[in-house]
Amino acid sequence: MERSFVNGEWVEFKETFASINPSDTRDCVGNFALANAGDVQAAIGAARAAQPKWAAQTTQVRSDILQKVGFELAARKAELAEIVSREGGKTLTDAAAEVTRASQVFHFYAGEALRYGGENIASPRPGVNVQTSREPVGVVGLITPWNFPIAIASWKLAPALAVGNGVVLKPSEETPGIATELFRILERAGLPAGVANLVNGPGQITGAALIDGIDALSFTGSVPTGRKLAQTAVGKMVKVQLELGGKNPLVVLDDADLSAAVDCALNGAFYSAGQRCTASSRLIVTDAIHDQFVEQLRLRMRTLKIGHAMKADTLIGPVISERQLDMLQRYIAIGKNEGAQLVEGGRLLERETPGYYLEPTLFTDTRNDMQINREEVFGPFATVIRVKNYDEALATANDTEFGLSAGICTTSHKYATDFRLNVKSGLAMVNLPTAGLDYHVPLSGAKSSGYGPSEQGKSAVDFYTRTKTAYIGQ
Ligand code: NAD
Repeated sequence: MERSFVNGEWVEFKETFASINPSDTRDCVGNFALANAGDVQAAIGAARAAQPKWAAQTTQVRSDILQKVGFELAARKAELAEIVSREGGKTLTDAAAEVTRASQVFHFYAGEALRYGGENIASPRPGVNVQTSREPVGVVGLITPWNFPIAIASWKLAPALAVGNGVVLKPSEETPGIATELFRILERAGLPAGVANLVNGPGQITGAALIDGIDALSFTGSVPTGRKLAQTAVGKMVKVQLELGGKNPLVVLDDADLSAAVDCALNGAFYSAGQRCTASSRLIVTDAIHDQFVEQLRLRMRTLKIGHAMKADTLIGPVISERQLDMLQRYIAIGKNEGAQLVEGGRLLERETPGYYLEPTLFTDTRNDMQINREEVFGPFATVIRVKNYDEALATANDTEFGLSAGICTTSHKYATDFRLNVKSGLAMVNLPTAGLDYHVPLSGAKSSGYGPSEQGKSAVDFYTRTKTAYIGQ
């Protein structure tokens, strides 16, 4: 049994659950201890007890530990990438890039641990000084999805620990292995017992229990789960941060460099099997370039090498689970029923190993009000929406409940600037895929794609602290 990490000990629980390799369903990655509500409460209690001493440590001690984690992640990149790839179906190249990003995140917050602080502000009253300081919130619950299993865990853990919080991480039940390895690294780096705790298990059991007795919750995942958690959190006065799904538009204008636009669409929609919250799922294309764009995109889609994520020449791996594959097939049926044209892909694929393989799928002749354009379809699935001009393209891009990432391909400086300023999303991309982010700048979603303060970058630390304002007389 793969154990959980509570109060500095590797512990077993009564029940277990299995994690399966989506590239080869005969391969069981491991059986993991399943934390029930009582186990989660024990982890929260351990974090509560350990946190004050951790907060009282010097910033140098905290920074050094985060640095060590960053160094080990980088040094073991290939080995860790194999774990990510095996349990999550991400190609080895993408998995290695993710491990590098996790390492960079730890180094970045090792720096922030030293830099972060309050300010001195002159008081309008004579003889009074005002000083703000930032204090850790206390115990933070972290719930993460499977699609970036080490990067997202890292960009929550590192800022939370940098400023002296105790934490409990509940990773996705699809990817418990890499989280387990990350906690071995935290332990080796010298993190004191109880400061960071790992509990594995399904969302309904383990995740749902990680709301009682905490001071803040940072969640990344789907909108329905996030909404439910936020409602509970607010009722318990738990500070909450949500990073959620998207239905990200990529606008292609008549004046775009056609081949570069096709590259952006191909990468944004289908790389990582489309399982990125920032994936380009609605391709909004103006009339004059529409037919050429669709034709070239279809040709390029046929060249994508689909297969076992751990094979060196694979570009597109499987989707994560049978549930996800069923969901994708449902949306393909919905698209057909709605009158959209399935022009490429859409079939399940047989490969050398039994896994969850779906051909990258493209629908044309779609309207923005169709269900396939309203709901997040997490997988290698994109639609094309034909529009007359830039104004209609922008209006269509904004006509959605989501607001995570949005891109435009154009050679017009005027349209690029107008789009960047007026698209209603947390991320705006010009002549780049909607996916593919740096690690040192904020990430946040507008509308239903996010709630609360942004993650990543310097400002991410704000969520994990509260401000105290001291008035100092003479
Ligand atoms: P999910 O919402 O199903 O699960 C996310 C996490 O929440 C998992 O750990 C799961 O076990 C847990 N969970 C599920 N039900 C729960 C409950 N009732 N109480 C507490 N925890 C619960 O999402 P997923 O399928 O793992 O991930 C894909 C989703 O994540 C997509 O919607 C994607 O867009 C989104 N995502 C967003 C970002 C971002 O930064 N905005 C990044 C990556 C993924």
